[in-house]
Amino acid sequence: MTGAIPSRVGIVGAGQLGRMLALAAAPLGLRCLFLDRSAAAPGAQLAPILVGELTDPALLAELAKRSDVLTFDWENIPASALAPLARTIPIRPGPAALEASQDRLAEKALFTRLRIPVTPHAAVDGRADLERAARRLGLPGLLKTRRLGYDGKGQVLLRDRTDFERALEMLGERDLIYEKHQRFSLEVSIVGARGIGGEIAPYPLSANTHRDGILRYGIAPYHDEALERLAVSYLRRVMRSLDYVGVLAIEFFVVNGRLLANEMAPRVHNSGHWTIDGCVTSQFENHLRAICGLPLGSTRALGHTAMINFLGSMPDREALLRIEGLAYHDYGKEPRPGRKLGHCTIVGARAKDRDAAMQNALKSIRWT
Ligand code: AMP
Repeated sequence: MTGAIPSRVGIVGAGQLGRMLALAAAPLGLRCLFLDRSAAAPGAQLAPILVGELTDPALLAELAKRSDVLTFDWENIPASALAPLARTIPIRPGPAALEASQDRLAEKALFTRLRIPVTPHAAVDGRADLERAARRLGLPGLLKTRRLGYDGKGQVLLRDRTDFERALEMLGERDLIYEKHQRFSLEVSIVGARGIGGEIAPYPLSANTHRDGILRYGIAPYHDEALERLAVSYLRRVMRSLDYVGVLAIEFFVVNGRLLANEMAPRVHNSGHWTIDGCVTSQFENHLRAICGLPLGSTRALGHTAMINFLGSMPDREALLRIEGLAYHDYGKEPRPGRKLGHCTIVGARAKDRDAAMQNALKSIRWT
């Protein structure tokens, strides 16, 4: 380390999250170095990159040697790959937080231990378990892989028993979780940062709309004081229990005014992208401040914000740029169906300005 405050940030994964971390790092005087499988990853357009497997011990060691602190834009690095590095460099958030969020079952066990309600669920390792789980919890339900699922990948909706065979074929027979299909009024998420001294800076609550398991758009701040208070108290519980450093996100279903935790991400999160343009300090900057031991920035909202994802294809940039209060974010990725390629944020002084601009923007955005 070159001094008390880290200035070289090693980032495992150079996707859009890494890229937006690098964008936030520059004004703070921090320099980033990535490790990613692809030299064409979005982050590589902004900072140097080591190219290879994210678990490659030699590359991880080089990343650690050339950095003062390590962090992630992808949380699925096995703890065994990080263990040798933990002796030489601060890893933030720490391996315990990564491990807890790598397995849906372990994650739900953590929530339950912390008295945070979750969707009824059961572990599934084969057809007999699935039959039992569906009988106990009811249909419809979702069968999901316990590990490595994201954006609706690694999960199948089961309407009735005739869906079982195909689902088990698609997902494999083992290491699955069956969840009751939850009827909810809304999905919300809480994003916040925790510094190395234990200080916590939560952002306002965001209301999120998903389709086919992928976030389409979100509105923030979502003004519901009781829900926000509850979400922040759950966020604090998880952060304290893991002695967490950095940004953490928890996604919830709202059911009869209660929050059921669906999942958490030990990193900056799509539902927090609105904070780049919509808050005094973005989630990316606060993550960097936290992991570098710098004071956390204000999470105050600047207005009424909407964030809309670009999925599969990029929209007409000119049409969007004409909209008052709109900020455009292109991740520099090749288009592919369903792929997150960018997003736009709309910040309005009043909710009705935001909503009108959002309807206008949606006319130019096609999710393919
Ligand atoms: P996940 O990968 O678990 O975050 O799921 C992605 C999205 O799929 C969620 O944000 C929900 O919209 C939907 N979903 C996941 N699990 C359930 C569930 N148990 N009941 C209803 N919808 C779900």
